[in-house]
Amino acid sequence: MLRAESGDRKQVFIAIWSRLRELDVGDRDTAIAYLAGVLAGQPPDPALRPLTTDEVQRLKHGVFSIGAHTHSHPSLPRLGPTELMREIADSKAICESLLNRQITTFAYPFGDYDDRVRAAVAETGLTVACTTAHRSVQPDDDCLALPRMGVSNWTSDQFIRALPPATINKTASQIA
Ligand SMILES: [Zn+2]
Repeated sequence: MLRAESGDRKQVFIAIWSRLRELDVGDRDTAIAYLAGVLAGQPPDPALRPLTTDEVQRLKHGVFSIGAHTHSHPSLPRLGPTELMREIADSKAICESLLNRQITTFAYPFGDYDDRVRAAVAETGLTVACTTAHRSVQPDDDCLALPRMGVSNWTSDQFIRALPPATINKTASQIA
């Protein structure tokens, strides 16, 4: 059985995540299935399950923006042109079918992109795409390479504490 103290757990997670992101989708799924078998005995956290179709459709009426994120979550710069376009376009089409509205936003899996990937995203009609750069958006940012801030299952106080200092006053007044 794999055991690790909480500090080690994060390092183990990052090490595994780093290796998995380099794999082709098939090899990645095989490795994940293997790990799930090795780690059997720890039931999945129900709070981390994917949303149901009904839950996604209810979200579209709220304050959330739902965007595409590829079909199988590969590192896009690694893909050939046909597979690259299919990953982006299929994801967009599935989201549009699910929500019955046009999807214009996208997030690069792992934040990985290059000029070719950016151009493919633009070619599918997506107008906004997020990387994993952790900072607030600036007026001159490229709309197809925006930074974003990850948000966990936090309270509003935890969320405000996690923001970069330059955004705190503005955000606190917007939340209040
Ligand atoms: Zn992702």
